[in-house]
Amino acid sequence: MREPHSNTIIFTDLDGTLLDHDSYCFDAAVPQLRKLEELGVPVIPVSSKTDAEIGQLRSALGLKTPYIVENGAAVFMPEAWLERASAVSASDLSATEVVQNDLAHRSGCYLKEFSRSRADWRRILAKELSEFSHCFQSFTELGVQGIVQSTGLSLEHARQANQRDYSEPLLWQGTPEQKHLFSEAVSALGFTLLEGGRFLHLTDGYDKGLALRWLLDFYQTYIFGNACHSVALGDSQNDVAMLEVAEKALLVRSPVHDWPQLQRTASVYQSHSCGPQGWSELITQHVIPYLKQG
Ligand SMILES: [Mg+2]
Repeated sequence: MREPHSNTIIFTDLDGTLLDHDSYCFDAAVPQLRKLEELGVPVIPVSSKTDAEIGQLRSALGLKTPYIVENGAAVFMPEAWLERASAVSASDLSATEVVQNDLAHRSGCYLKEFSRSRADWRRILAKELSEFSHCFQSFTELGVQGIVQSTGLSLEHARQANQRDYSEPLLWQGTPEQKHLFSEAVSALGFTLLEGGRFLHLTDGYDKGLALRWLLDFYQTYIFGNACHSVALGDSQNDVAMLEVAEKALLVRSPVHDWPQLQRTASVYQSHSCGPQGWSELITQHVIPYLKQG
């Protein structure tokens, strides 16, 4: 296994970035995914999707790496990955010891959790933000059928999307002015409002950037044993935090919304194509040429 000997990690959003916004297809990205695998570069999904959804996609994409769920709410490290990575680790420190002592453990994964539970968020929405309840429908209110209608997901995929541990996505139905007031009310409670491709998400300080930094540090300390390069790919505002912290920010064009607004200007690149075609284009131009080949 070559993964720990690589010195680059790719953190990628899924919807609208590695997956097509409408069809959720990723065929156009497969050749570059295989190339990265061949070169030993870990590709880490970082998504608003759930463990159940990413779990299924990981097998389809052929990824065995850790992954970040629900907009950075938790990092999932599969035991099997940890075992393989530890066996060939270039670090003197033992990852296994640390995760066994410090992380939660559930269904074959070690978990670094940054968020409160979904039930907590439901209580906060019902109690503290009830004046806005007519402006949105939560995942719970939509139900699986409503999720199917608002996303175009199949029934099975909508069920997986609804198996959330840490968050309650909201389908906004109010005006932009009401959304602004909602955002202010959310901030006043000390939370942050994130805008994804289709849904709004409340977080309590965590985001994709925080989770990226934690996992990058874990890789550097326990797997690589030294600093490594990081690349982030995303298409939406909820990707901004990770696009700001990675060494390179690769922006995938969206067919439905504007580019995410970044503070940084250095090492930021935009794709011409949308979705997986754009992903592939950016990897070809801005990642592959910088990797040690063969
Ligand atoms: Mg996206």
